[in-house]
Amino acid sequence: MEASLTARDRVGIQDFVLLDAYTSESAFLDNLRKRFHENLIYTYIGTLLVSMNPYKELEIYSKKQMDTYMGVNFFELPPHIYALADNVFRTMQSEFNNHFILISGESGAGKTEASKKILQFYAVSCPSTKLLNNVRDRLLLSNPVLEAFGNGKTLKNDNSSRFGKYMDIQFDHQVEKLPHLLSAGGGRRGRSAPLARPGEKLPALQILSGNCAKVSSINDKSDWKMLRKALSVIEFSESDIEHLFGIIASVLHLGNIKFGVDVRGYASLNNNNKEMHWVSKLLGIPMQVLQQGLTHRKIEAKADEVFTPFSEEHAIYARDALAKAIYGRTFNWLVNKINESLVNKDSSRKTVIGLLDIYGFEVFSVNSFEQFCINYCNEKLQQLFIELTLKSEQEEYEMEGIEWEPVPYFNNKIICDLVEEKHRGIISLLDEECLLPGEASDLTFLEKMEEKIGGHHHFVTHKLADQKTRKTLQRGDFRLLHYAGEVTYCVVGFLDKNNDLLYQNGKEVMRQSKNAIIQHCFPSTEPDSKKRPETVVTQFKTSLVGLAEILMSKQPWYVRCIKPNEAKQPGRFDDVLVRHQVKYLGLMEHLRVRRAGFAYRRKYEIFLQRYKPLCPDTWPNWKGTAAEGVQRLIKHLGYKPHEYKLGRTKIFIRHPRTLFATEEAFQVC
Ligand code: ADP
Ligand code: MG
Repeated sequence: MEASLTARDRVGIQDFVLLDAYTSESAFLDNLRKRFHENLIYTYIGTLLVSMNPYKELEIYSKKQMDTYMGVNFFELPPHIYALADNVFRTMQSEFNNHFILISGESGAGKTEASKKILQFYAVSCPSTKLLNNVRDRLLLSNPVLEAFGNGKTLKNDNSSRFGKYMDIQFDHQVEKLPHLLSAGGGRRGRSAPLARPGEKLPALQILSGNCAKVSSINDKSDWKMLRKALSVIEFSESDIEHLFGIIASVLHLGNIKFGVDVRGYASLNNNNKEMHWVSKLLGIPMQVLQQGLTHRKIEAKADEVFTPFSEEHAIYARDALAKAIYGRTFNWLVNKINESLVNKDSSRKTVIGLLDIYGFEVFSVNSFEQFCINYCNEKLQQLFIELTLKSEQEEYEMEGIEWEPVPYFNNKIICDLVEEKHRGIISLLDEECLLPGEASDLTFLEKMEEKIGGHHHFVTHKLADQKTRKTLQRGDFRLLHYAGEVTYCVVGFLDKNNDLLYQNGKEVMRQSKNAIIQHCFPSTEPDSKKRPETVVTQFKTSLVGLAEILMSKQPWYVRCIKPNEAKQPGRFDDVLVRHQVKYLGLMEHLRVRRAGFAYRRKYEIFLQRYKPLCPDTWPNWKGTAAEGVQRLIKHLGYKPHEYKLGRTKIFIRHPRTLFATEEAFQVC
């Protein structure tokens, strides 16, 4: 007994649901910390996997480890991402339905690594034939391609994904167990992923403008080789590759263009600007067109075209918007090409496991439009989690013939509505303000919110706040009470960022390009600039709603990634930083929703198989049905009637403490 307790003290508990003081954040953190210092980076909350970034290579990803985790139940081995991957796979096979794995966390928390581990597990664990090896190669190789173009070095992460990424791994049930297709975003049914991160500064621009052009942890030469190889395996033609690299180079040069200021104070570009020459040459766009496009805005007044000059600030904004558009559209094109090369043409029955790698809640000292969009996304995903969890709970209880007795938790629908409701939600108010000519400003947007939603319990501003709260707010701030906690947004820049109007200019310039990919990405048949483009936040909302629809039809699984410290160092656990993430990843809330019904449920066979040594009647062999065996077993263990319910095929245990005690007894015996 003592030996086992000591071990438990040292390595913590592998499932937070089994943590006795489960409601306390401190207990939660203690457990994480303990495990982290023992290199135990994975911990469950039921079937959710919490993953700490170790910032060092651990010997836990070998082929042998993969084999160990195949076909094993969650609680029988230490938590692992392979256990999750394997469970998803086996559930898919036995229930023949679709699943998705949502991987979230801050930049640098380990999301992309986690999705790679899952892909690798499927690639290795699924038996192959020669023919299909080729598909497998492409599956694994398409990842470096997307990474090379989708990632950039930021201060937070050497190799950070600058987008939310959704991909389906399709499993063909005739060719047994083989991952057959990867469709990364933008798939055939008009999926809107990858979610472009609105207003994001381009990684390429950052690389050149910062003093961090060399990234120590990325081996440029071998990555480059890998990329070339990947591109050829995915069947990119030499001319595609050439055009692609031309675009990337042009984006880099574009970002380096510096504007002068003419006598009237407007932005100017010198004819012999070297960077501009490069862009012109690389994209095949006449110098003059480029020059005018970067320094002027075209306004169509009746039949006339009028060009008004940009201020320097506007020119910089237009330049970055253009670079972003080129990069973003090229990236989408790339994703589509990869999809095409992987599309499986035969139509036998298939199920999919979707992988969604997405940035988590962002809370900085100053939060702007970008954080607003990202946090709205997370709010929405939480809503999805609640709906899916409760829906499946309810269905399971019905199926098992068990009464439904919910325990209260916080439903964040009220916050989603506050943001997205038609006509009176924040997004509507913002769009409305963007449509007003002339007198609208960030401040009038703020005032409109105060007028329309000022009474909402999850919204507060300087003007609306009580005296104490007012001290923590500036006049230009609004604060939202997200499900995971408060975030204060600074309203400055919301209108401009949402409008992204200057972007129209750039489109027209791009249409003159001779680069084949650019021609493809900026077709002349696109709705013209006369029609008002959708605002950024509305595009974001639309793609999010699309994503939610895709996910709604699937069974959810979760991986939550945590960054232990900002210094990217192994062995360092920064309490404040981790506490912040535990909060904004909604882990405590997740635990609560999980516990809204019965904390644990097990098939009779599995429960009996594991715990039968604890009862002389069931050990070593039980002759009756598993259900009867379980009844005998729990009677012997002294389970009280309110602690459990017996369904048709499973035992449901209300409180983790009950299972905890049983598991403890099992460990000792
Ligand atoms: P994110 O996608 O969340 O921004 P990444 O997955 O790119 O973060 O992880 C950032 C870095 O942290 C990786 O490049 C790697 O060095 C390290 N890392 C993350 N997860 C692991 C892991 N499981 N084992 C070892 N190192 C890891
Ligand atoms: Mg990433």
